[in-house]
Amino acid sequence: MSLKLFNTMSRQKEEFKPRETGKVAMYTCGPTVYNYVHVGNGRMLVVFDMVRRYLIYKGYDVTFVQNFTDIDDKIIKRGLEEGVDPLALSRKYIEEYFQDAQALKILPATIHPKATENIPEMIEIIRGLISNGLAYEVEGDVYFAVDKSLHYGQLSGRSLEDMQAGARVDVDERKKHPMDFALWKKAKPGEPSWESPWGNGRPGWHIECSAMSLKYLGAGFDIHGGGGDLVFPHHENEIAQSEGYLQGKPFAHYWMHNAFLTINQQKMSKSLGNFFTVREILEYFPGEVIRFYLLGTHYRNPLDFDDENLRMAQKGLERLQTSIRLAGEALARTNPDGLKPKENEELLQAAETARQEFIAAMDDDFNSALAYASLFELAKNMNAYLQDYPYASPELAKARETLLELAGVLGFDLEHPESQERAKDEKLAQVMEVLLAVRVKARQKKDWEMADFIRDQLKEIGIALEDTPQGARWTIKG
Ligand code: AMP
Ligand code: ZN
Repeated sequence: MSLKLFNTMSRQKEEFKPRETGKVAMYTCGPTVYNYVHVGNGRMLVVFDMVRRYLIYKGYDVTFVQNFTDIDDKIIKRGLEEGVDPLALSRKYIEEYFQDAQALKILPATIHPKATENIPEMIEIIRGLISNGLAYEVEGDVYFAVDKSLHYGQLSGRSLEDMQAGARVDVDERKKHPMDFALWKKAKPGEPSWESPWGNGRPGWHIECSAMSLKYLGAGFDIHGGGGDLVFPHHENEIAQSEGYLQGKPFAHYWMHNAFLTINQQKMSKSLGNFFTVREILEYFPGEVIRFYLLGTHYRNPLDFDDENLRMAQKGLERLQTSIRLAGEALARTNPDGLKPKENEELLQAAETARQEFIAAMDDDFNSALAYASLFELAKNMNAYLQDYPYASPELAKARETLLELAGVLGFDLEHPESQERAKDEKLAQVMEVLLAVRVKARQKKDWEMADFIRDQLKEIGIALEDTPQGARWTIKG
């Protein structure tokens, strides 16, 4: 069956045909790193991770590039406020990003380029645009000339006149057209800057994505994604620059945009201050629950942030996890003599139907919300089967394996619930405390043999002890 996706450019669902058979090249606009990512960013990140995982499931070899905007006005402003070097600030939040992404089960991109590491590539494109007559320099700044661009406004479906009417009046006399945007900005004192043919300065925001996507994926790559706020002006500008530079060759084929995560129907955003960071929500819910919540609504529908719905998501995920656990326990019990599973074909059929419905939902513009329904239906069938026959059988094994596989495509490991893993970790820590206290008592009694025995036995199972003035510390090796 073929995959269809909604292309913002054509405003309709199109059949997905990659540039190269069996391969997908995709790019998304990653976070601007001056703070922890918020749950709205999390939605975008989880959505495109789901898209990528499903493409891999369909058999494609996916190259996925997601950038970090590690230099821009907001980063510089934040650096000044906090008295830290803006580039050190962005480095810190890139590290924090990886922690949150891991918690949300987001696979690292194939390449995570940083804007500051691709300045020469940006300069090269700007130079090309000037020589193609699409950009001009004024006193150390370089602007893109929108009225020279052939299709400007095509992605957002607006004419230059509409945009101008909608935009705040721009009184920058140096621009040839009010909608012209900066490709290069002249350095201001105290700001990070790089050398260029137009003097010291730094890139405008839009140019970085053109440079990094073209560098790693080449012209005409398959999917370009991001949140809906990026359609205009960011993606419109990316297209204008890139296609101007490529002299008419296409830039990206399919444009995908996720709808917003909102709070009281208003976009969650750093600038509005109405946001919760992923880190904050992780204190209350495991990452897999946040992910389950975010994928429970189709990516093009708005989703209002609500902790009641997060709790519902938690219950839903736990239902699937419980079915997997109960089926696992049944599979460990042998079939008692004479008792045969009833209607054993039915469960196999249910597993097959779940797979087909899952694929049909995901093939229809990545409808993960509908795909959940096939998971719940299969779990329900497994539970009903277990009521009648709670023992090992090939069909139960097959159904369980199918549920694990399909949930795995969406990034959920139903076999290892995080809450259970966390509880296990906590128990382990408590048991270790008891054991270390026993060792302290043995030492107090000068029972060195017992103290060494505990240490050696732990070492054998891969737990190393280190005696420090504050007491013994333990670590799991390897
Ligand atoms: P930023 O850090 O603001 O550059 O955003 C990083 C990514 O998150 C971009 O692709 C945005 O479009 C996306 N994004 C930002 N806010 C939201 C939101 N409230 N809902 C969904 N996606 C968002
Ligand atoms: Zn971008």
